[in-house]
Amino acid sequence: MSRTIRVTVWNEYVHEREIPAIAAVYPEGIHGCIRRFLSREEDIAVTCVTLDMPHQGITRELLAGTDVLIWWSHARQEDVTDETVRLVREAVHAGMGLIALHSAHFSRIMRDLMGTTMTLHWRHGDSEKLWCIAPAHPIARGVPACIDLPAEEMYGEPFDIPRPDDIVFLGWFASGHVFRSGMTFIRGMGRIFYFQPGHEEAPVYEQPEIQRIITNAVRWAAPVCRLDGPPDNVAE
Ligand code: ZN
Repeated sequence: MSRTIRVTVWNEYVHEREIPAIAAVYPEGIHGCIRRFLSREEDIAVTCVTLDMPHQGITRELLAGTDVLIWWSHARQEDVTDETVRLVREAVHAGMGLIALHSAHFSRIMRDLMGTTMTLHWRHGDSEKLWCIAPAHPIARGVPACIDLPAEEMYGEPFDIPRPDDIVFLGWFASGHVFRSGMTFIRGMGRIFYFQPGHEEAPVYEQPEIQRIITNAVRWAAPVCRLDGPPDNVAE
C-alpha cells in the first residue's frame, strides 16, 4: 500500500556533547532518540546528519532522497551557511516536507521560509499543557486532548510567524502564557510543521504522545509530488 517514507533527521548536536546533564537526557543525541522511535514504524526509514559533518550534513543528493527533513537547532543557528539554507529551501519548494522542532523556529531555514523575525516570548523553566485544538487534523490522529509536559521551556505569544494554514496544538504554560505550539504551512510544494516542545534539558521526545505527534507529522509532510525528483516520483 504505502511506500517507505525517507526521513532525514538533522541535529545541530552541540548541547548533548558539551553539557553532561543534557548528555544524560539524550545519550544518543536528540537525533538518535528521534531515529529510535521513528525506526519502529514499518513505513519510515531514517538517516541522521549533524552540523559538524562535511557540508553541514546537507547535500543536494541527500535532500533529493529525503521525503521529510526534521530539524533541531539552537546554539549554532548562525553557523548554518547560505548554501545549506538554499539547498533546503529549494528542496522544500520542490515538495520535501520539513518538521522544525522547538528552537528551530529561529533557524536560518525557518526564518528564510517564513519571512518574518520568528521572535517570541521566552522563559527558562516552566511546565506546559499541550492542548490539541484540531482533533480532526491528520497530525492529531491518536493524540490525547491534552498532554502534560512537566518540564518545558516557556515559549509565549506574540510569536512573529506568518498566519498558519492550521493550528493543531496550543500550549498553556504554568506561568500563564499561551503559544501556538503546533502549526502547519505550505511553501511551494512543501508541507511544513512547526512543533514547539522539545527543550533539550528534559526528555520530551521520550514521551509516547510526543512521539505519536512527530510520527503523524512525518506521514502528513511526506510529499504528494516532487518537482525535483525522477518522473516516477511524481504522483500519477
Ligand atoms: Zn530550549
